[in-house]
Amino acid sequence: MKLNEAACPELRVFADKCVDCGMCLKGCIMSDQLEEGPGKVVSHFLKNGVIEDDWPFRCSLCGYCSSVCPVGADLRSVMTALRKKACVKPSLKMKKLFFGVLVFQFMAAWKHMGTPPVFPKGKGNRLFFPGCALASSDPELVLMTWRELRSLDSDMGVMVGCCGTPAASLGRDDVAGRIRDGLAKTLRSCGVEEIVVACPNCLKALSSLPVKVSSIWGYLGGNASLSGSLHAELEEAMFHSPCPLRDDERELTEVERLAEAVCPSIRTDPYGSEGGLCCGAGGMVPIVHPEVLSSWSERISRYRRNGETVVCCCQSCVDSLGGGSSGVVHLLRLLLGGASPPPPTGLARWANRRKLRRAIFDDAK
Ligand code: SF4
Ligand code: SF4
Repeated sequence: MKLNEAACPELRVFADKCVDCGMCLKGCIMSDQLEEGPGKVVSHFLKNGVIEDDWPFRCSLCGYCSSVCPVGADLRSVMTALRKKACVKPSLKMKKLFFGVLVFQFMAAWKHMGTPPVFPKGKGNRLFFPGCALASSDPELVLMTWRELRSLDSDMGVMVGCCGTPAASLGRDDVAGRIRDGLAKTLRSCGVEEIVVACPNCLKALSSLPVKVSSIWGYLGGNASLSGSLHAELEEAMFHSPCPLRDDERELTEVERLAEAVCPSIRTDPYGSEGGLCCGAGGMVPIVHPEVLSSWSERISRYRRNGETVVCCCQSCVDSLGGGSSGVVHLLRLLLGGASPPPPTGLARWANRRKLRRAIFDDAK
């Protein structure tokens, strides 16, 4: 695509700031593909006025670069700006890729693949919002979690829906905005005042909704009865923190506290000086560049000690790191019991959503 500097001012700001120290590349899934430092690469783009359409879609939008940069250069916002630009007049190749993502987004937000707010007593003002990944990969865990939440608050409802992150990652803020507006309208019309989310992407994406958005970790962690009924105790484990919580210390502390209740010796900083690494599942990378996803999840496994379980608080991380059969488990599974199913592929994801929808309606009767 052609680059007009005035339309993407983030690029000039970045090129002027970056000193090409290479620190961001240590934890960047694009590092193998860059022959020069990011400052030089972006400067070339600006000089030539052209960039490969799919270049920004190799980035998982993990934010590692922006959080470690010593001079405050924000590479992630460069990627976001380029993605938005790529959506304006996409080439045929990109149109095909975008179509795949938008079909996925449509299905994820489609009412028949989720539920409206469902309350055990017909109405309530607080509900559990599990998010797409958990609903598609482990519907049984969604039900178990809802039941656990109901044991703490008998009025707690549930709603299976999408926060719009797939469209937003693509650069389609218009589509994501419509999804979130629809969600806000539904919640308002049902009198919902608080949603309890289980996905770190939902936690970030829905923070602008006109309701209180709480994370399940703080909600469960504040309850003493749960720690008395832990279903698993691990000898050796490492905690993989999800990218959306990278700068959210308060939230990470809540999750780590629960993880330590399951495994007192859990390593909560397994990557050491490398900082938090991305599982590769963000930013639609698995659709645009699936080969990057596997090489990055392999890299994470290199940090694993023999026999260690990997504990995640994001179902997308669980799936991209191989799921239960690879010794990767969701923290909710450890807290509530049962085995993680293998990551579903293709139609199985949507079949799981339909199964969950029926189970929720049955459970609420
Ligand atoms: S860490 Fe910052 S200054 Fe260093 S190469 Fe990355 S963006 Fe440039
Ligand atoms: S957001 Fe993550 S994947 Fe994208 S450039 Fe930064 S470190 Fe690399």
